Amino acid sequence: MRDFDLDNTFFFLKSLINGERRLVTIERSEFSPMSREVVDKISHRLEVMAPDKLDKLVRESVKARLLNESMTLVCLNCGWVGSVRNKDLPDRPKCPNCGSEKLGALRIDEERVRQVMERWREGKAKSEDNELIEYINRTAELVGKYGKLAVLALSSRVRIDDIEEFLPKISDIDKLVLIIHDLEKRELRRRFME
Ligand SMILES: [Zn+2]
Repeated sequence: MRDFDLDNTFFFLKSLINGERRLVTIERSEFSPMSREVVDKISHRLEVMAPDKLDKLVRESVKARLLNESMTLVCLNCGWVGSVRNKDLPDRPKCPNCGSEKLGALRIDEERVRQVMERWREGKAKSEDNELIEYINRTAELVGKYGKLAVLALSSRVRIDDIEEFLPKISDIDKLVLIIHDLEKRELRRRFME
């Protein structure tokens, strides 16, 4: 999404809806120098980019983003916690310490995960740890079954309920990217309508 500032577009559109900003239409017979500039740029870009090409480009950028993401991995067998860049993972990630495939994968700071894991393994988990522990177990279930594809999915902005639903149906990264791109768009729309 290098060329699109999604976050600021979101805030801008929201400010229009809640009335912070007003949209004013001015009719003129010709373009102002500034709109001329914008129209020229846009029409030039539309010319060089057919819709299917644009789609392909967006999918490639989603794929690159997922592969470049770093995740905190946590071994449910020996308690090892570490951070790994997605693209460096093998198809079936294993704990570098004990070889177990029961790895949780989180978009949460390594240190925080380590502290919670230590308390849990010593039987001293606080009540506020429970939510994270349950989440770690859910992600480990997915990574154990679907390997690297699960880690990639978990590093997206898609909710884990959705991931649990679609992962069993896919077998390669291109399909994964297609679905994630779709669901992220839907998620953005949902947040927007709230
Ligand atoms: Zn381990």
